[in-house]
Amino acid sequence: MSRIRLFSRIFIDLLDKRKMPTVKFDKSLVTADVKADLLATIKTLNEIPAEHVKAVYRIALSSIERGRDLYTFQTGMERLRLNHLDKRDISEIGLFLNNRATTLIDRNKCKEIGFKRARWVYSGAPCTGSSFQDELHRTLNGTEFTIADGINVRGTAIWPGMERGCKCMSKSMIEGLFE
Ligand SMILES: [Zn+2]
Repeated sequence: MSRIRLFSRIFIDLLDKRKMPTVKFDKSLVTADVKADLLATIKTLNEIPAEHVKAVYRIALSSIERGRDLYTFQTGMERLRLNHLDKRDISEIGLFLNNRATTLIDRNKCKEIGFKRARWVYSGAPCTGSSFQDELHRTLNGTEFTIADGINVRGTAIWPGMERGCKCMSKSMIEGLFE
């Protein structure tokens, strides 16, 4: 390959890289209510000692604001050196906190767009939060609910993807279209 062709190829490669679509997560979606929920949730985690709650919150928030950047969470947490947590524990916590935030962000988006109803979608992979969670969520598959209220289970409102270990999702419905 001639030198000119080689250079022009490198140049085109560079241009192509610049054109690559970078999907940038919109940080403004992480609203005050999402942040408040994140902090409150971290406080409920038995694995996180009270003196580390603030640090874990900062790490989790930056991972969420980077658009579900689980690597950021993992490396940030490893730097905290909480010896009772191994890589797997950290990644499970990171996924939970990100999933929960994503559910809240989606719920806010639905409110903004005007979607009021959604359907529970069981992912197919077991939900591992508790002994009865998987069976319950499996039976909820396809159940329609009001996004603002969630589904009432024994007096507690639940939403897909909000609880620890839950891999479920929700599918928003345009009023009248799927009914
Ligand atoms: Zn689930």
